Amino acid sequence: MLSAEEAFRQVIGWCNALPIAERNLDECLGAILAEDVLADQDLPPFDKALVDGYALCASDVDLGLRDFLVTYTIRAGTFPKSELGTGQAARIMTGAPLPPGADAVVMWEHVESIDQSIVRMSHERTVRPGQNVLARGREIARGEIVLPKGLRLNGAAIGVLGSVGRNRVRIIPQPRVRIVPTGDELVEIDQNPGPAQIRNSNAYVLRSMIQQAGGLPEVLPIAADEPHSLSESLSAGLHSDILIVTGGVSTGEADLVPDTLASLGVEPVFHKIRLKPGKPLWFGVRHSAEELGQKPVRQVLVFGLPGNPVSVVVNFLLFVRPAIMALRGISTQPVAHQTVPLAEAVENRDERPAYLPARLTRYHDHIAAAPVSWAGSNDLRGAALADGFILMPGGPSRLAPGSQVSFLPLLP
Ligand code: AMP
Ligand code: MG
Repeated sequence: MLSAEEAFRQVIGWCNALPIAERNLDECLGAILAEDVLADQDLPPFDKALVDGYALCASDVDLGLRDFLVTYTIRAGTFPKSELGTGQAARIMTGAPLPPGADAVVMWEHVESIDQSIVRMSHERTVRPGQNVLARGREIARGEIVLPKGLRLNGAAIGVLGSVGRNRVRIIPQPRVRIVPTGDELVEIDQNPGPAQIRNSNAYVLRSMIQQAGGLPEVLPIAADEPHSLSESLSAGLHSDILIVTGGVSTGEADLVPDTLASLGVEPVFHKIRLKPGKPLWFGVRHSAEELGQKPVRQVLVFGLPGNPVSVVVNFLLFVRPAIMALRGISTQPVAHQTVPLAEAVENRDERPAYLPARLTRYHDHIAAAPVSWAGSNDLRGAALADGFILMPGGPSRLAPGSQVSFLPLLP
């Protein structure tokens, strides 16, 4: 059986960044920029006052002038009326354009008002050209590359795109991820389950985690464990970049997902990995038109996750999230684990490596991991209360308090 590391390598080997697309600016946060973005104008677009005060010409002060005639007021958003003459100043507000003839701003605290229209500067005070002024084009010159291709767009970068007037941007788009929950025992969460039924929580786990990973989730209706309708549901799921199926991937007689996917042209890549929880994981690829040389279809990555909700969480973190990151052009690396000491002894009786939900706590002045009590891979609440998962080596194994272990955080 494949190790989790080998399974990851196989998955990531099939992940290519999605083709570039143009999107509205409000859909670009976190995306990789796919073009060099140029400034459409100088920023700031005019010589701009950085403080409230008086705009004047520094050389007037060098000439020995100390009293200035205040001619008019310039507020942010208004353009100065006329050029200042020698010995003249304009009252100016932060963010306003400097008037022609001025090259500096003296803070209002640094002058004395003699009357309504005269301000005086003390003899000690010097003024240099450019003082308290942000020169036109100082931040960004028109035509300059403001943001380079390949940059991952954070909030500030989104603001820069806005400031150069770009409301459409070429980026690597978010992958569309469809979810097909399967199982005759499932009902939707607003229904009262019958005696043998359970609510479809996996759809909510996955939708949330896909959103967090920067994918665009779409949950399809619950599919029954019946070949014909399952085939229709999975076929609808293939209209996406990634299809996640939950349930029906083990080897029981109601586990019809692998055969049904194969009948829809999805090529199996692997089935089952050496891991607990998450062993029945199935992964396959529906090839693109170029690969198949036929009607125009896109490549679809297909994950068949076991139905147990904690298996869903672990398999998502280890395999699906990295695939989403790779399709977004961000990373092809495996999920990073931290190394932390154990706050208490932990045992793994299984021969497979095991992920156990755990909280981070203090232990001898260190951050350490302590397992939360849980009832196994069906017990989603254990994961809900955890900060992540301790990775225990394949067993049987027992690690003492203070032993260093790998820790898989739930939040990246
Ligand atoms: P399966 O992988 O189909 O054998 O399902 C394994 C376990 O996961 C069963 O106990 C199912 O009831 C449970 N399960 C399957 N699908 C879901 C779902 N969508 N939400 C919550 N639990 C599920
Ligand atoms: Mg099932």
